[in-house]
Amino acid sequence: MRTVLPIVVDGDPALRLVAPPVERDELLSPAFQALVYDMLHTMRSAHGVGLAAPQVAVAKRIFVLDIGRGPLIAINPTIEDAADETTFTEGCLSVPGMVGEVNRFKRLVLRALNLKGKPFVVRCAAQRPIDEYLADAIQHELDHLDGILYIDKVRNLRPVPQPAAA
Ligand code: ZN
Repeated sequence: MRTVLPIVVDGDPALRLVAPPVERDELLSPAFQALVYDMLHTMRSAHGVGLAAPQVAVAKRIFVLDIGRGPLIAINPTIEDAADETTFTEGCLSVPGMVGEVNRFKRLVLRALNLKGKPFVVRCAAQRPIDEYLADAIQHELDHLDGILYIDKVRNLRPVPQPAAA
């Protein structure tokens, strides 16, 4: 059984820290591996498409995502070659019930470590909505690791009856 972790919301100082990288020894520890699976479980339970560790009050550079193509686990993620700015509509599990427009890049290269500590690369390069949506979600989650919320950058923040959450 996995644990549903409590998700902290805007106003909690845990969301405003710059999270430190995960050390290799820690990455391979059972406690860390359990945390990652609990984060995936928590994200799904909350019907979110993404969740970053600071959202469960854990100051570590890790996020999980699932935009409908299977889970993506990114440890110590970085973004390169971000290009082609556009506007996306976003929500956030830590800002319940709201959405708004944020400027993001449509193309980027994500580099991160997987659960085994192996580097991998995700290229969001194709001119397809699914790639652009993934690029948007990656930028949203990476911001969480630097203490940034989308409401810091948003235009037209507004309530929605059924929030889209990331
Ligand atoms: Zn968020």
